[in-house]
Amino acid sequence: MQILDYMEAHGHEQLAVWNDPSAGLRALVAIHDTTLGPSLGGTRIWPYATEDEALLDVLRLAQAMTYKSAAAGLPLGGGKGLIIADSRTQKTEAMFRSYGRFVDSLGGRYITTEDVGATPQDIEWASRETRHVVGLSEEIGGSGNPSRMTGYGIFQGMRAAARHVWGTDSLEGRTVAVQGFGNVATSLSAHLLEAGARLIVTDIDEAKRARAAELDGVTVVAPDDILAHECDVLAPCALGGILHAETIAALRCSIVCGGANNQLREDADALRLKERGILYAPDYIVNAGGVINVSFELAPGGYNADAAREKTSHIYDTMQQVIATAEEQDVTTAEAADMLARSRLEEARRARDSGA
Ligand code: NAD
Repeated sequence: MQILDYMEAHGHEQLAVWNDPSAGLRALVAIHDTTLGPSLGGTRIWPYATEDEALLDVLRLAQAMTYKSAAAGLPLGGGKGLIIADSRTQKTEAMFRSYGRFVDSLGGRYITTEDVGATPQDIEWASRETRHVVGLSEEIGGSGNPSRMTGYGIFQGMRAAARHVWGTDSLEGRTVAVQGFGNVATSLSAHLLEAGARLIVTDIDEAKRARAAELDGVTVVAPDDILAHECDVLAPCALGGILHAETIAALRCSIVCGGANNQLREDADALRLKERGILYAPDYIVNAGGVINVSFELAPGGYNADAAREKTSHIYDTMQQVIATAEEQDVTTAEAADMLARSRLEEARRARDSGA
């Protein structure tokens, strides 16, 4: 991979590499853009087969964080950390303390938190070596599990989408099909049930399907039956890449709005959804509640749950703005979201360059 060419083409500022054989650690941090503030993004632990695969992933994920934070109006840039290891068998305290020293060596240009494969314990170990960590557990002064706020933000985005499609943001009596019943989906579902929606739920994990089945207003279906299930809203809350030519052709919903990152397999899928008359709520717009929540740990007065919730509720307004831009400019909602993020970055760059 031509790393510098890739970084130049996509606007990355920095790629840092850390090698500590005594701690069994090989790690990467990509910092995409710090125009709006220090870069923030989780640390993913994954046994990448090749270094190129890891490099491409960390660079792409860092860029996505820039867009997510910019669109959410946060004073943060985008970054991402990767530890190349099997999270089930290779994690140790020494590894995370070494990783903490790596993060510390970046002097606050990168702030880390949990991502796939990491647990609160891992991040707490890292925090013993650096203060540039957020998302610690509530017992030690952090903001705790971000999924609750992520679910709340998706609910707000879904209400805004509903208003556009049905003229009311009430979800009472609507049917929402939820793919995956993990942390984010559990939070989202609680808001939906409270609002009077009916849920169709699935998960590949039988225990989670059984947990969902105990809730009033929830019907559980097999994992293969969820995407094409007739519903008002499809809420993908499992993994990315689930929306592509084949699945989009089979959808029977009016809105797609869920928490999973990178739901579209390729850019053209946004157009496929638009052409089918399905309103797509861009994933990074509606799932920003988690990053909004941890960002409040960096606020001058420290973490404040009410302030974080208030800011997350504005995902409703951001989603309305994205829909309006998409209509005015005749672009997809995915393109409109990117336009919003880029315009915030350009505005901040102009202010910085003019010394304002
Ligand atoms: P999680 O691991 O708690 O839940 C994911 C669930 O999806 C699991 O229960 C898993 O069994 C299930 N699943 C996986 N593949 C499936 C499939 N093919 N069909 C049905 N179910 C399947 O994770 P989470 O924290 O709830 O995150 C869900 C998604 O939201 C992820 O894509 C994550 O990247 C994204 N996200 C999470 C947050 C957050 O605050 N946790 C923030 C932003 C984005």
